[in-house]
Amino acid sequence: MFEEIERLRTEFEDRISKVSSLSEIEELRVQFLGRKGKLTALLKSIPTMPPEKRKDFGKACNRLKEEIEKRIKERLLFIKEEEKKKKLESERIDVSLPGRKLPVGSLHVVTKTLKEILRVFTSMGFSIAEGPEIETDFYNFEALNIPKGHPAREMQDTFYISEDVVLRTHTSPVQIRVMEKHQPPIQIVAPGKVYRKDADVTHTPMFHQVEGLMVDQKVTFADLKGVLELFLKEIFGPETKVRFRPSYFPFTEPSAEVDIGCVICGGKGCKVCKGTGWLEILGCGMVDPAVFKAVDINPEVYQGFAFGMGVERIAMLKYGIDDLRLFFENDLRFLRQFSGV
Ligand SMILES: [Zn+2]
Repeated sequence: MFEEIERLRTEFEDRISKVSSLSEIEELRVQFLGRKGKLTALLKSIPTMPPEKRKDFGKACNRLKEEIEKRIKERLLFIKEEEKKKKLESERIDVSLPGRKLPVGSLHVVTKTLKEILRVFTSMGFSIAEGPEIETDFYNFEALNIPKGHPAREMQDTFYISEDVVLRTHTSPVQIRVMEKHQPPIQIVAPGKVYRKDADVTHTPMFHQVEGLMVDQKVTFADLKGVLELFLKEIFGPETKVRFRPSYFPFTEPSAEVDIGCVICGGKGCKVCKGTGWLEILGCGMVDPAVFKAVDINPEVYQGFAFGMGVERIAMLKYGIDDLRLFFENDLRFLRQFSGV
């Protein structure tokens, strides 16, 4: 009978040294100490033994039981330690690995174009001025020589907030605000959003303009031409052809529209330039004396020029974009094309 105990001990020792996981160790425990376990079976056989053997056999069985419990506890601890070591090893951080790059956004093509425009003008000594997008009738129209009933008001479909307050239809009111506060010499560019009731392939209700103004003594149309020609060649390339056409704006006299040689066909004539070889790019002129009077600058002493351009229009021509609405639809496939430009 005692051999039976020894046999169990040997079997257990053999098995315990081979288990390597918590589930295996639990299985082994059940096999020996469970309700139907091997050692349990021996203990259950005690009452069937001759009474004089029961005591010693029972003691031997209990000793083995204690041994098994102790060995299981030790093995459990060992396995847990091993698993912890393995986990630490697998989660080790290699600090020499290069980091993962986070996706980086890029500037919108309109912002990019605007920055480029401002870079050229600031390099010529213009400083940047800004004004409110909600304007009074006075700044948006009246002071710019566009009195009530003037036909130029019809040209601009205005968003009225109240009878006297509008969303500015152009950046020209900034000219008035600057001239009210500062005496010449003045040399500014005013970028910003403007609003008109318009929506089709070439018009959106909001778009961006850059206004320019230079006021000093002896400022002439030749200065205006020089500044704008240089600007256009910086933006569209040194070979760009530039021409001035007489035009009309209420706040300048004389006024001109400026064309560049078509950047699409190189002047041969195409759909974009409607076969003319020229593209209208901005409006300009010498500041009308009536505007100077509205801001108390003496037109006998000072002259000035002003110009205004649409930023989206310049971006369209510079990058060959044929639908204005693409700028505002936020389609990443469109925007990503300009992320490296
Ligand atoms: Zn063309």
